[in-house]
Amino acid sequence: MTSAHETAGCLLCRSGGVRLYTQRDLNCRLDGEFGQNYCPACDLFFLSPRVPEHDIHRYYPATYQPWRPVRYASLLYRIAGALSIPQIRRRRIARFLSGGRIFDAGCGSGAFLAALNDQAWQKFGMDVTLPDSGLCAGQFHTGHFDREPTRMEPVDAITMWHVFEHFYHPRQALSNAAALLRPGGYLFISIPNPHSIERRVFGKYWAGWDPPRHIATYSRRALETLLTEAGFRLQAIVPDATGVDWSFNLNLLMSARGHSLRLHESLVLRALLSPLALLSRLLRRSGSTLYVARRLT
Ligand SMILES: [Zn+2]
Repeated sequence: MTSAHETAGCLLCRSGGVRLYTQRDLNCRLDGEFGQNYCPACDLFFLSPRVPEHDIHRYYPATYQPWRPVRYASLLYRIAGALSIPQIRRRRIARFLSGGRIFDAGCGSGAFLAALNDQAWQKFGMDVTLPDSGLCAGQFHTGHFDREPTRMEPVDAITMWHVFEHFYHPRQALSNAAALLRPGGYLFISIPNPHSIERRVFGKYWAGWDPPRHIATYSRRALETLLTEAGFRLQAIVPDATGVDWSFNLNLLMSARGHSLRLHESLVLRALLSPLALLSRLLRRSGSTLYVARRLT
C-alpha cells in the first residue's frame, strides 16, 4: 500500500526551497519516495513530498530501532551497557544538572531514564505508545509532545534525544517545552547534524535523513532561530555521536545497493570506524549535535 503524500514548505518560513534528493526508506524498507529540500534563507532541510501526519504511524514498525527494549543478558553486554548510549547521555547532562525533575520527550524504550540515578531524579517520559519494557511505567505520558501541552508541575530539565527532527510542529514543541520548564530550566536537544562530515560522505544515503520519519533536519542557525522565538537562550553546543554512526551509514549505503548486511551490529567494524567518529567530533562536524538551551526567566 502506498500512502498519498503531501507537499510542504520550509517549516520556518514556508518557502518551497531547493530540491536536493529523492529518497526512499532505507532504514525500515517501507514504501514511498520522498523529497529532501533545502531552504537557504533558514539553513533548514525539510521533507516534501512527505507522509501526512495522520499516516506517519505506519512508518514506525515494531522493528524500528529506538523502540526495541535494551536488555543486557550477558556479562559482555553488561560491560557494553556501561559504555552505551544511555550512559553517555547521562554523563552529558550531568555537566549541567545533578538531579531534579526530568522529562524525556520521546522516551522510546525508557533506556535513558533508567540510566539516571533514582535518588537524584524524579523521572517522567512521553512517547506515542507505552514501551513494552515498562521502564517508565507509572510516570509515563502517552502523547505527541509537539501537539498538546503536557499538564503537570514544572520540571527542571527536558530531554529530546533524536526526537525533535520527527516533529511536524517544531514551534509548538518548543512552546510546550517552555511552558513545562521552570524559569532557568534546561532543554537538551540532540539532532542529526546536516553539516557533518558523514552527511558530506554519504550524501543522500546519510542515516541522519531517515525519510520519511525525519520531517526536518536542523542546522544550528535554524534551531537557534526557533529557540530564540520560544524564549530560550542557547547555552552550549556539544558534538555528539550517539544517534547515528559510521557503521550504520555504511549499512544504509549497502542497503540502497540491495545488500542486507547488518554491518552496524559488527563490533569489529564499529571499532575500526571509531577513529572517523572521533575525528569528526574533534572537527565539530560530528553526525549529531547536542544543543543545550535554558529557558529565560
Ligand atoms: Zn525557510
